Amino acid sequence: MIRFEKTTVSYPGPGAPALDEVSINVDKGEFVFLVGASGSGKSTALKLVMREMRPTSGRVYVAGKEINRLAAWKVPRLRRQIGTVFQDFRLLSTKSVSENVAFALQVIGRSGRDIRKTVPETLELVGLADKGNRMPDELSGGEQQRVAIARAMVNDPMILVADEPTGNLDPATSVGILTLFEHINASGTTVLMATHDHGVVDRMRKRVIELDHGTVVRDEASGAYGFEH
Ligand code: ADP
Ligand code: MG
Repeated sequence: MIRFEKTTVSYPGPGAPALDEVSINVDKGEFVFLVGASGSGKSTALKLVMREMRPTSGRVYVAGKEINRLAAWKVPRLRRQIGTVFQDFRLLSTKSVSENVAFALQVIGRSGRDIRKTVPETLELVGLADKGNRMPDELSGGEQQRVAIARAMVNDPMILVADEPTGNLDPATSVGILTLFEHINASGTTVLMATHDHGVVDRMRKRVIELDHGTVVRDEASGAYGFEH
């Protein structure tokens, strides 16, 4: 589902590459934590998967497509198959909770009837059935992240990419967010989550890929966050 082959990313300017010949293979339906110190290359790896950028060298395949060779007009179609969740939620502040989730369906041309059915179902799944009419700034951080997750999953994406999704949340709230990710994963969506959060990684015991200065230093099937590297 996601494959890096000797993938290198060098940002302009001096300094070592952000990713240095990284090779990773993530199969359909896997749940993978990407861990490592700040600056180790996690966000860069996720940006490649989202096709926000391209590798300097090497290859990246997402859902069978090599992103470097993908025609520009095909990029939106690929992005539609990828749900994204970020540390800072990134909700549309002038839209209600329901409108935020509906928007993800409007932009891909789904019918009003379909949207009116799907949005409440998705809000129910993330535990926000009664908050559809609220504005984002009327919600707690954990609730806002649930809206972002609803928006990411409403389209039933093949891949969910999350960059530090619990970075602004307290530990108890984070557990709830991870439980949601597990549900999404159980329905067949491949989950790739970059995190600093030792607590959630240790609790979940999923596959852990650790980056250090842009190289993979660990890839464990059922790992903990680990301090030993
Ligand atoms: P992480 O998400 O693990 O903190 P990043 O992928 O954000 O790591 O960054 C990896 C390296 O690339 C760091 O050294 C960072 O400073 C550098 N970097 C990230 N984004 C840019 C950018 N837009 N321009 C230049 N350097 C960048
Ligand atoms: Mg980052």
